[in-house]
Amino acid sequence: MTRITSSAPAPKSWISAIAPYVPGKATSADGKPVIKLSANENPLGTSPAAHAAFAQGSVDLASYPDPSAAKLREAIGKVHGLDPARIIYGTGSDELLHIAASAYAGPGDEIIYVRYGFAVYEIAARRVGAVPVVAPDKDYGTDVDALLACVTDKTRVVFLANPNNPTGTMTPRSEIARLHAGLPSDVLLVIDQAYAEYLSPEDDDGALELAETAPNILVTRTFSKIYGLAAERIGWGYASAEIVDALHRIRAPFNITTAGQSAAIAAAEDREWVEQSRAHNRQWRDWLSAEISALGNHGLSVVPSNTNFILALFDGALTAEAAFNGLMQAGYATRWLPGQGLPNALRITIGTEAQMRDVASIIRDMAQSA
Ligand SMILES: *Cc1c(COP(=O)(O)O)cnc(C)c1O
Repeated sequence: MTRITSSAPAPKSWISAIAPYVPGKATSADGKPVIKLSANENPLGTSPAAHAAFAQGSVDLASYPDPSAAKLREAIGKVHGLDPARIIYGTGSDELLHIAASAYAGPGDEIIYVRYGFAVYEIAARRVGAVPVVAPDKDYGTDVDALLACVTDKTRVVFLANPNNPTGTMTPRSEIARLHAGLPSDVLLVIDQAYAEYLSPEDDDGALELAETAPNILVTRTFSKIYGLAAERIGWGYASAEIVDALHRIRAPFNITTAGQSAAIAAAEDREWVEQSRAHNRQWRDWLSAEISALGNHGLSVVPSNTNFILALFDGALTAEAAFNGLMQAGYATRWLPGQGLPNALRITIGTEAQMRDVASIIRDMAQSA
């Protein structure tokens, strides 16, 4: 049959409904390069050992990478005490979030996440034609009861970032356990631990432990944040053998580059770099939080952070928009979040000491003269 038509291909209606992901800015409006405190990258960069391994891994460019990422899974398994056979890997944890939605939800199904959750969850839900369901927050964090109240017969997946981006809030171990216990066992609970390495061990939310035996938990991690490998796009996840099997069917066939695998192995093994990055982050996060909190009489406050960024709230004469523009003019890109329902908030990545001192003094000057 020859179909005669003059129309162009039409995207599926649920694809047209997607608002594209907005990446953190790296240039000002007039194109000048700025210091990027807008994408939660590691200001100390990448472990030198990972850099060296990357160079080694890029020698053979003509061959496909190891499709099973065997050595990387082994290295991750060793660091975290996990079964390598149950580790899935992705082109960034972004790929894992998308394939988790594709494997378990389709048109008409519901995917739940918390208000002020990670922006990718809505895209992952809409991409497969599922209906995004937004649970109300509690003080910018997770309200487990409100989330459970959103569950219906159509619920297939729940996404929860812990700690959360862009709020920096943390859902404690007891609440994660309560959420999991309250969900039907055929609903996939995705705990996105992109910032877990910034926590103290005693603050661990227990999701990896739950995933050891639960049939319905996928924990995701990334090499993009504390490991400083965002350029290489490497994420991993841990779940039951059945979930991992389903995800393998739909991941891209060679989804992590050879050099990326080499770099990630070295990065995973360089615990000193991780420790140093965590210590640097804690020191300057606490310092910047205190500096901004001290401007409370000008309407500024900070949502207590468990991550490598802070969410600063501007409820006085100085607006978040004006602060965003002022910082940009001074050479710093931060994240203003009106598109995520937070027009009074700036998300600021923790940078170097010099950057943090500079940013605090710029914000103080703006607040005092507004
Ligand atoms: C940065 C981030 C990710 C992931 O990033 P990848 O670079 O794709 O691994 C996932 N979840 C959250 C909450 C993040 O902030």
